[in-house]
Amino acid sequence: MSTEATLLERCESKCELCAAQSSLSPFVVAPHTQITVDHAVMLCDTCKGQIEEPETVDVNHWRCLNDSMWSQVQPVQVLAWRQLKRLSAESWAQDLLEMMYLDEETQKWAEIGLDDDAEKPRDVNGVELKKGDDVTVIKDLPVKGSSMVIKQGTVVRGISLSDDPKHVSGKVNGQSMFIIAEYCRKK
Ligand SMILES: [Zn+2]
Repeated sequence: MSTEATLLERCESKCELCAAQSSLSPFVVAPHTQITVDHAVMLCDTCKGQIEEPETVDVNHWRCLNDSMWSQVQPVQVLAWRQLKRLSAESWAQDLLEMMYLDEETQKWAEIGLDDDAEKPRDVNGVELKKGDDVTVIKDLPVKGSSMVIKQGTVVRGISLSDDPKHVSGKVNGQSMFIIAEYCRKK
């Protein structure tokens, strides 16, 4: 049986993400490039188009992941996880992501390439800031919504990263706050 025929049988002629029955074709889950049963997923044009062009995404279409994330098929799990990650600004997607369980190998596959498109926080010298770094604040920074100022020269130990690469977070005088990454210097 050809790969495509095997895939068609596996998906029961339905899109493996949204269960649509129209125009299915195999989609290879990166970083793999060859259509094989283990690396490809049968997708409808809608799913495929929105995965390939994220700017066209229709958030509500992806509520289908509510069902397909429980698939036993590894490449389907990887795609579902990646798509939920992309949509994680939506609280329902965040919730599903938290419920989802991937075994170690699948998780590794799912995370490949993730770092490449995510921007990283950088300090005043363009040095990448990582979780756990110690930084020095290089200018007085007023804290939004309070009269407090983080003084120039303040050392913040063991910073955390935030969803926004422009900010890191850390404790100043015992309080957690966001600090603009480019106003820090890595120690
Ligand atoms: Zn679909």
